[in-house]
Amino acid sequence: MSQVPRIPLNDGNSIPQLGFGVFLVQPDEAERIVSDALEAGYRHIDTAAIYGNEVGVGRAIAASGIPRDELFITTKLANPDQGTRSAHDAIDLSLAKLQLDKVDLYLIHWPTPARDLYVESWQAMEQIRDDGKTTSIGVSNFQIPHLDRLLAETETVPAVNQIELHPTFQQREIRAWGVEHDMRIESWGPLGQGKYDLFGLAPITAAATAHGVTPAQIVIRWHLQSGLIVFPKSNSVDRIRENFDVFGFELSGEELAAIDALEADNRVGGHPDVVGNA
Ligand code: NAD
Repeated sequence: MSQVPRIPLNDGNSIPQLGFGVFLVQPDEAERIVSDALEAGYRHIDTAAIYGNEVGVGRAIAASGIPRDELFITTKLANPDQGTRSAHDAIDLSLAKLQLDKVDLYLIHWPTPARDLYVESWQAMEQIRDDGKTTSIGVSNFQIPHLDRLLAETETVPAVNQIELHPTFQQREIRAWGVEHDMRIESWGPLGQGKYDLFGLAPITAAATAHGVTPAQIVIRWHLQSGLIVFPKSNSVDRIRENFDVFGFELSGEELAAIDALEADNRVGGHPDVVGNA
């Protein structure tokens, strides 16, 4: 039995709360790196068509011999593939590359609002789910107006919204929308993508010293204890193992509150209103 808790989704499925992300994992390294992650104990892998590494992810899964029902695999519909027909073609290509009959979760990668295809794409996702090619469907990088529109114009509340989220960018409004509408939140860039000195911030270093763990482990623990789904990425086997070794300690209420107080509206990635619109 895995020690990773499972979070129930609004469609009856459930997801391992800690997984492994493969953004910027090079195609020719993906098989080795995902194999290292599976060996370290991860059973939830987060990839995307646009990452270009689904073939390597699929090879690692096939080589692992791990029963399919113990794995949770997410991939994402790339921006250029939004629209009904292209979404159906895109999931078939992703499944072929991953060597899978179905994924566990399929996401619209970005809303690309100026193209105005995300409602149509969401209806295609509903059909893809009904066709049995994914168990759950969700979105990524959706802002509240995009979510409200799905609610008004379609039948399905997304199971998850995968958004940039880390201690200095906590996305409290979208999280509140998720609580209100029974949609879970996945944190991308959970370690700030290494783009600022997250690991040098006082509440994080203090907690690391107190628990005898690393700052990265403190930040991952903060995501988990905040009810978020998280999948840090690393190419190094030592860090892959370190990031999974987060179940032997617990942050106190004071430690969580001190990290909560780091909110600084510090977006480090692209803005969902503009990414992919061109
Ligand atoms: P991340 O916050 O997980 O940061 C990864 C970087 O942190 C690594 O490259 C490394 O430099 C550093 N790091 C990792 N472990 C460390 C450790 N133990 N100690 C010190 N440094 C460490 O950033 P990410 O990869 O962008 O996000 C995680 C996953 O989220 C991605 O791999 C991908 O699956 C997903 N993601 C999704 C979107 C989206 O638009 N939906 C965008 C970005 C990422």
